[in-house]
Amino acid sequence: MAQTSLLLRLNCREYKNWMKAGYCLQILQSRLQGFIDSEMKTFHRHLTANISRAGGPQRQRCQCRAKGKQFHPNCPVCMKLKELILLHHNNRNGEIHWGNCDPSLWPTQYWEVAKVYLPRGHTNSKGPQQCDAAAILNLINSCDHFNVSNISKVREVIKCRNDLMHSSDMKVSSSWLSSFGQKLQELISELGHVPNLKKESDQIKKVLSSDWSVKDLSLHEVDGFGAEPDGGENVYIGNSSLDGLSLNELEIQLVNQLLEEIYLEKEENGALSEEDQDAVIKMKTFLTENKDLLSVFQEDLEKLEHLLN
Ligand SMILES: [Zn+2]
Repeated sequence: MAQTSLLLRLNCREYKNWMKAGYCLQILQSRLQGFIDSEMKTFHRHLTANISRAGGPQRQRCQCRAKGKQFHPNCPVCMKLKELILLHHNNRNGEIHWGNCDPSLWPTQYWEVAKVYLPRGHTNSKGPQQCDAAAILNLINSCDHFNVSNISKVREVIKCRNDLMHSSDMKVSSSWLSSFGQKLQELISELGHVPNLKKESDQIKKVLSSDWSVKDLSLHEVDGFGAEPDGGENVYIGNSSLDGLSLNELEIQLVNQLLEEIYLEKEENGALSEEDQDAVIKMKTFLTENKDLLSVFQEDLEKLEHLLN
């Protein structure tokens, strides 16, 4: 029975479309992380160049702290850095999540400066390696250091990523996927200066055009390339479009992202909107109906239950 529901799920076209799009964003994210790391270090050096000289290397950490969308600096270094950070912020009159960072670490830690340009919920972020595609694209969108000539190409992909995360039944149509593929390619062209990113263009095309059909788990075949269920559970695609990841591992990663999004929503707003409640109910049903996933997400199922009470 478990195998039948697994087969049905993995062969649902719209569900696979959802997974393919999520996987393409992961490819993008893995190529952008190194770039973000070196660019934000450069940006930090640029911002702190004068500050370090004025404060000297022995300067003690200040007591300034930020909370939520507020930050009122109490020392001259934070005042100056806040001013510079805002100067480079593309949304300086809108919402800025100062609470993501610890300003007392601005002079010495580049990532604490970068975190001001990230969306909410990144207080514990230690570096770009912990950032998903959404965080990275929002950083590029918010910080003018990146100097992207057509920023709408970045925003279009952010919008698609939000569509994916708010698709509570985890399904997208083939026409949505095809338009998403087009937007990804346009973004890659826009970010043509990022080392090795262009190479990913072919990999993304390969993922989007693969069938990923699972015919029979006992036949060990996906896309005709010898998929092997591992212990009757893990389904691998042998043609390397998934780069060694099994389909099951991928869906677990993506469902986790969706759950994190739901938890963050609750944490930020204290309560769930009607739309979010609907998403929680659909997620609960999905996990309950798919026994193989239920064993992985048992704790989450209980957490979701609490969210509704
Ligand atoms: Zn300070």
